[in-house]
Amino acid sequence: MKGYPAFDSPRQKWSSQQASGYKSTMTVFCDFDGPIVDVSQRYYSTYRQGLKTIEAIAQSQGDRLDLVRLTQGQFWEMKRDRIADREIASQSGLPEQYIPVFLRQVQEIVNQPNLLEQDTLQPGVRWALSRLHSRGAKLVLVTLRHQSQVKEILHNTGLAKLFADIYGTRDRHAAYQNYAQLKTDLLAEAVAKYSQSDLSRCWMVGDTEADILAGQALKIPTIGLTCGIRSAWYLQQFHPDKIQADLLSAVQSMIGCAELVSA
Ligand SMILES: [Mg+2]
Repeated sequence: MKGYPAFDSPRQKWSSQQASGYKSTMTVFCDFDGPIVDVSQRYYSTYRQGLKTIEAIAQSQGDRLDLVRLTQGQFWEMKRDRIADREIASQSGLPEQYIPVFLRQVQEIVNQPNLLEQDTLQPGVRWALSRLHSRGAKLVLVTLRHQSQVKEILHNTGLAKLFADIYGTRDRHAAYQNYAQLKTDLLAEAVAKYSQSDLSRCWMVGDTEADILAGQALKIPTIGLTCGIRSAWYLQQFHPDKIQADLLSAVQSMIGCAELVSA
């Protein structure tokens, strides 16, 4: 792991600066899938399409599968509690020998254009980002999505101008796998460039443990959002500094903290 700047805990640093009335610009490092984009429809369609393909493969081999297709609500609740795809497959009635094929299929199709177009902006995102931007906060996107996918979406939604920079990957599979170490490495690069050596005025906002662990590794305050692919129950186990319902609530909370410091 790279060497990260050493500081007191974010909370200690925060309160000592509150006491001295310290002022500086806030920098918000924000994850993409979950806080900004709702991927639940795409992931569910991927699951359904994956089952259909495996059913056809089995049929071609003379096997008739007795599948139990989860509803979108059931599927998403399982994803939010981080039930493994293998277990989801098993609970959908896939026999053991077909599960590896199903997992490969899901991985392969989840980034196909016809599925990617099912992603939508989370409610209130435009307003939340504009509020931060108008307050002079620097917004930096840190995502495991492929850089080009993110740029295209931000361009198409008119949100690109609100971000100072985008740290994405060159790996189409990284977002689905949610690699925590890769997230930490990306955040480390972003923090080195944009933190202005004041980690207490930075925030890391995201919807998974990868975001919280990355923020904690870099010693910046973290906010876990429950509007994405993890439940509040699951996120609590990683002890983020705050848990909020969505980006808009997180923005209100960050602005509230900044005003406290400036008062
Ligand atoms: Mg995410």
